[in-house]
Amino acid sequence: MRTIQCPQCNEPCITVQYGTVEIDCCMSCSGIWLDRGELEALVGDPVPVEKADPELGPPDRDCPICVDQLIKERYGRTSVVVDKCPHGDGVWLDEGELQAILAAYASGSADAAGHDDQAAGALTDFFSNHPTDDAGGASAPPSGKTPN
Ligand SMILES: [Zn+2]
Ligand SMILES: [Zn+2]
Repeated sequence: MRTIQCPQCNEPCITVQYGTVEIDCCMSCSGIWLDRGELEALVGDPVPVEKADPELGPPDRDCPICVDQLIKERYGRTSVVVDKCPHGDGVWLDEGELQAILAAYASGSADAAGHDDQAAGALTDFFSNHPTDDAGGASAPPSGKTPN
């Protein structure tokens, strides 16, 4: 069993079966590592390989597989900036980026919408079942107007 270390916080990621692929999630920052081809499998759309865009900023994370620096690139037709291994090992997505990518592609093709919605929903569920901090914002129920 391989364990990916989060390139952001160096915590070991946990492996989660997500749809048809296994993804590595960091429970500290909610980031996700996807191996080569896994993101395309989830999106259901081959995305052309693009060159790194220097305007997106310098590399600031290392590939958990080959330890080279990840390059920043805008993913396909979305505005999401992902961190990608220059050797194609995979791609690192910060919290919410996978959902954003799936949402962007779901809205573009009615075909995949149902499938992608389901997948994104499952992932959101997954993270909400593992709260990282205790936000116990109890909202006060409306009182004083009990019709009795
Ligand atoms: Zn992390
Ligand atoms: Zn790599």
